[in-house]
Amino acid sequence: MIQEKKILRIAIQKSGRLYEDSVQLLKECGIDLRNVKDRLKTVSENFPIEVFFLRDDDIPEYVEDGVADIGIVGQNVLLEKGRKVDTIEMLGFGKCRLSVAVPKAMDYSGVQSLQGKRIATSYPQLVKQFLQSNNVQASIHEISGSVEIAPGIGLADVVADLVSSGGTLFMNGLKEVEVILDSQAVLVANSKIDADKKDILNKLLFRMRSVRKAKKSKYVLMNVPNENLDQVIALLPGMRSPTVLPLAESGWSSVHSVLSEDEFWDRIEKLRAAGAEGILVVPIEKLIL
Ligand code: ATP
Ligand code: ZN
Repeated sequence: MIQEKKILRIAIQKSGRLYEDSVQLLKECGIDLRNVKDRLKTVSENFPIEVFFLRDDDIPEYVEDGVADIGIVGQNVLLEKGRKVDTIEMLGFGKCRLSVAVPKAMDYSGVQSLQGKRIATSYPQLVKQFLQSNNVQASIHEISGSVEIAPGIGLADVVADLVSSGGTLFMNGLKEVEVILDSQAVLVANSKIDADKKDILNKLLFRMRSVRKAKKSKYVLMNVPNENLDQVIALLPGMRSPTVLPLAESGWSSVHSVLSEDEFWDRIEKLRAAGAEGILVVPIEKLIL
């Protein structure tokens, strides 16, 4: 009997704000995806994965039902839908917040100002929970898009909508007054996937984490006079310890190390002060610890 080859099915957004980053993440994991344009699904030729392209709203349900094994979706959609899936990993893109915004001219002095108001939103469940936990009675009007225009056309008094920069709110004469939820894209999985699929998922996760770690790190090379080496090395974490190589010019060394993004600028300044010169900063593609 020929054993059917196991394949992991992942659901990602078909088009929209999460599409590019989702496809790019898979590609950076070394997964070949051809013909992704205008397709409903595609199978990778070099990794046992099949990609389904769906509306983001449907992804939690498909993963819960096992039509897809895993999926990439915003926490805002995931929590709104209330489906039972496992959240496996925060992905760090698609960052936004679900916020309450009111007309600029409105006198707003805290959540109680929302009492009795009509709130337009695409996230009725999340807004309901928010109002309940703040003991506010207000009516929720669910609309599926262009929520920000609702107050302007008299459909509602205030809105609860997704915000990233706040530009759209501003252009529509609204001001952000409460954050209901901070959101980003997450990887979710069906809670009952079998051992073979879990194995593929773990391989994928390992790659995703290596890619993300690499993005957060830089490879730095610098020239250092030998008498300053101890001082410079003390400033560098490195994977174990920095690499030190002699330069052709005697009395100088080349020092190589890995710095994380968070500490980057602070360290670079200190390194220069400690005598490092010709500092070269190089992106890292993958980082396996
Ligand atoms: P679909 O056709 O798949 O239903 P959509 O119109 O519902 O798409 P998009 O606007 O593409 O959805 O947004 C997808 C997700 O991107 C959001 O659910 C949210 O998680 C994230 N996102 C990030 N920033 C923003 C933003 N400023 N506004 C809206 N969504 C954002
Ligand atoms: Zn949607």
